[in-house]
Amino acid sequence: MSSNKKTQSFNAEIKQLMDIVINSLYSQKEIFIRELVSNSSDAIDKLKFESLTNPKLIPDNLKLEIRLTPNKENNTLTITDTGIGMNPDEVNQFIGTIAKSGTKAFTQANLANKDSKSKPDLIGQFGVGFYSAFMVADNVTLHTQKAGTDVGTIWESNGDGTYTTETAQRPEGFGTTIILKLKNNKTENADQSESIQDFTDTHTLKSLVKKYSDFVSWPIQMNVESQKENEATKQNETVTEDLTLNNQKALWLKSAAEIKPEEYNEFYQHLTHDWQKPSKYVHFKAEGATEFTSLFYIPSKKPWNYQTKDYEYGLNLYIKRVFIMENCKDLLPPYLRFTKGLVDSNDLSLNVSRELLQQDKLVIQIKKNIVSKIFSTLKDWLNKDRAEYEKFWNEFGTTLKEGIPTDPTQTEKIQDLILCQSSLGDKLTTLEEYVSRMKPDQKEIYFITGEKLESLKLSPYLEMLKQKNFEVLFLTDAVDEWVIQGLTKYKDKNLVSITKEGLNLDSDSEKKEKEVIKKAQTERFAALIEKMKINLADEVKDIVISDRLTETPVCLVSGQNDLSANMQKILSQMGDAGPMTESKRILEINPSHLIFEAMIKADDDQLKNWSEILYNQALLSEGNTIKNPVRFSKLIADLMMSSAKH
Ligand code: ADP
Repeated sequence: MSSNKKTQSFNAEIKQLMDIVINSLYSQKEIFIRELVSNSSDAIDKLKFESLTNPKLIPDNLKLEIRLTPNKENNTLTITDTGIGMNPDEVNQFIGTIAKSGTKAFTQANLANKDSKSKPDLIGQFGVGFYSAFMVADNVTLHTQKAGTDVGTIWESNGDGTYTTETAQRPEGFGTTIILKLKNNKTENADQSESIQDFTDTHTLKSLVKKYSDFVSWPIQMNVESQKENEATKQNETVTEDLTLNNQKALWLKSAAEIKPEEYNEFYQHLTHDWQKPSKYVHFKAEGATEFTSLFYIPSKKPWNYQTKDYEYGLNLYIKRVFIMENCKDLLPPYLRFTKGLVDSNDLSLNVSRELLQQDKLVIQIKKNIVSKIFSTLKDWLNKDRAEYEKFWNEFGTTLKEGIPTDPTQTEKIQDLILCQSSLGDKLTTLEEYVSRMKPDQKEIYFITGEKLESLKLSPYLEMLKQKNFEVLFLTDAVDEWVIQGLTKYKDKNLVSITKEGLNLDSDSEKKEKEVIKKAQTERFAALIEKMKINLADEVKDIVISDRLTETPVCLVSGQNDLSANMQKILSQMGDAGPMTESKRILEINPSHLIFEAMIKADDDQLKNWSEILYNQALLSEGNTIKNPVRFSKLIADLMMSSAKH
């Protein structure tokens, strides 16, 4: 043992991860190739990127490549790359101690899902990185040296909870070598139904590289022996060829006509490690003032970490085919963060720093073009394949809608991509379709916000609108409250909340017709309303006669400039209940309900109790909670007793 060899323990999270990886299903094991090759490819990308500012980093005669060297006799597989390598600190940090963000989610998902057969691709989806080596190897040795230094590190582990590190120069200079001492799978997996793979077999390796790493942009080389006839002797002899196993095609540079849908899908998997097919791909070249190529995808399902802060969005950026960075946020606004893909520009300067991208005029222009292409793609999709668009909408509609309040310059585009539920039935509708169905005497677009579709369908606020056959949009996403603040109009029609004061449903002629009745009602209930106002002075800011109720006795409405009840609820759930959220509302009474005739005759005590009951009923029927349910129950019980007496 050399003097500087140190033994250390893996941290607990990594230990857990390794247990799962080691005991993974046989059919999952092969993905170690994808993981290790993609680490190598990233390492070469990083080197190439560094060399843009430091060209001396890469010696003239050095081939940037990834090399697989199987050895049947020793049962080993070696993976070598001429990438950037790691310095001793990085080895300690990256391999062994720090669990990357996905690790926790991965182990939790696996622990929760004991029957891993039902989710055979779990490991594949999470991408366990370097540790996947332990799926196939009893012992892993990594020898790495950072470019520009001459200090190498050998890291070694049997996957048993500890690893050793020692300092040793790498004979080849910078880069990384990983030697896998393969498990003796012949005995271990005797009872597995899947065919047993031999990772020292060149055919197996060839087909795995094809399957998982064909698009890796650096050559993946392997020495392959084959039998060839010697021209002179006519004897078969063994020759060794250095084969490149992958196509390395920069798919996006080929013309779309030459690319098969399967190739686009494979490339998507390579890019995202999402093993489900994308629901849409778009490949285009922008020409004119700003020239670039883009290939982007819309996934069919939310990625597993979409809702977490770990989800990184953005497009990968290439400049003249050189990989510059992953998930470049400057190319995509947050409300289109479901989009995955890449941009390759010939015009951006290779020296552009990652920090300055945001201010680069060209980058801003590219982003603008991409955004507009995504919008036109979605619009086209909506028009041509509604069923598929609706699937997209159900996955990512909430995200897209965020664009209305956050990017007012795009409201016109986004408003036509929105789908909503409505009182008409279970089908989703666009705003345009809604408008096309508006009744001749309907002036505005009506909507109601709330948490649950089922309760909105039964809401008393709909009563008069139902009678008039006016359709109402049901907005149930929390984000809708913000969306409608930014979307007060669609074309020339106002969007109007049916839970706010001053709902003006009648046409001028209807108003005229009702004028006499309304006047009589106002006079008849004036005194009652005054008394009720005193009784409910702490709860409501006004009591008025309602135009929107036909069956229910009362409802609460918000002032034009006040927050809706739903918004108040959302804010208080977010722990954001400030003075703003507590604005008093207006109680509307239904003048055709006989209860108010009875109330005119009631004595003061009764009137007080009944006012309180009605107010609480209004809260309950909008899906709200009441302050004092015990007292409310008692009032109802008293009422029942008194009616039983007669
Ligand atoms: P991930 O690649 O997802 O970050 P890994 O566990 O595979 O997770 O690797 C952790 C880190 O180790 C990488 O981010 C990289 O910095 C470093 N690394 C792994 N393999 C190599 C390699 N072949 N060359 C250089 N660095 C590497």
